[in-house]
Amino acid sequence: MTDRYGVMGHPIGHSKSPFIHARFAEQTGQSMAYLAMHVLPGTFASAIATFQAEGGKGLSITLPFKEEAKALVDILTPRARRANAVNTIRFNELGGKYGDNTDGIGLIQDLRINHNISIEGQRILLLGAGGAARGIVNPLLDERPEQLVIANRTPEKAVALVAQCLSEAGVQENSIKGCGLGELGSASFDLIINATSASLAGEIPPLPDSILRTNGGCYDLMYDVARPTAFVLWGRQHDAAKSVDGLGMLVEQAAEAFYYWRGIRPNTMPVIAALRNSSVGEELVDTNK
Ligand code: NAP
Repeated sequence: MTDRYGVMGHPIGHSKSPFIHARFAEQTGQSMAYLAMHVLPGTFASAIATFQAEGGKGLSITLPFKEEAKALVDILTPRARRANAVNTIRFNELGGKYGDNTDGIGLIQDLRINHNISIEGQRILLLGAGGAARGIVNPLLDERPEQLVIANRTPEKAVALVAQCLSEAGVQENSIKGCGLGELGSASFDLIINATSASLAGEIPPLPDSILRTNGGCYDLMYDVARPTAFVLWGRQHDAAKSVDGLGMLVEQAAEAFYYWRGIRPNTMPVIAALRNSSVGEELVDTNK
């Protein structure tokens, strides 16, 4: 029998996940079906229960259900616990629900392997302190930057996220700092990661002109397969050595989920290229899978 997987979210119409997982299954010879499922808020728990009762093997979870998913699973991987959110569920034969979070590793893989951007010893600025920022902040710290500064429109959220990171064993007080967007002053950075949703409206957070160091890089978690996002353009205008969007992160986090379910690691490069090439003319989409 074909194993069944899918993605649940609200909205779900723009999801690239069925395309990505179909390519992974083809590539690795896995017999599996993967569907996009629109779930209304308030019905998520019953949608999961029904999918599991009907023999479903695993789910990707996207907005707005990642926190609710964390509360519904029986066992969390350490990275899901640290992210405080679940984007991947695996069901086992005994009825257990395992929750993982692959967003952080997806970003790190994309930076390191696809773009050859290193975090170790670098000064990193993370813009935003929402769900996506929460998912990537610990994996970024694991890469041992010189300092990670989190700047958010609402400063209290950045400060709270820093406090949460500092409660983890082994995180040094001077390795991380939280502030408002207007408090960056004359600080400069080797890499600026945009985890705000400002790009959705074609906007970028206000930043001082001198904030990006010579040979620095820019990374926008948002992606647009057809044209550069506003933040990618900002990076180019400020002479970034590399200025890239989050399409690779989307595919890498899916590859990690695929590995969690099937135990096989797919090749992501052809899938990233296929998405980029096949979608000329598409509208800017929310990349939460
Ligand atoms: P979220 O939880 O709603 O958080 C939004 C963040 O953006 C908050 O920090 C918010 O600041 C800030 N923000 C919103 N509008 C802003 C503006 N005009 N100027 C400055 N800051 C603004 O959203 P999220 O889930 O973290 O998602 C953030 C982005 O990451 C989205 O574009 C999403 O598509 C992308 N993402 C990509 C991937 C991928 O695989 N590539 C995965 C996950 C997410 P306040 O706290 O002040 O409201």
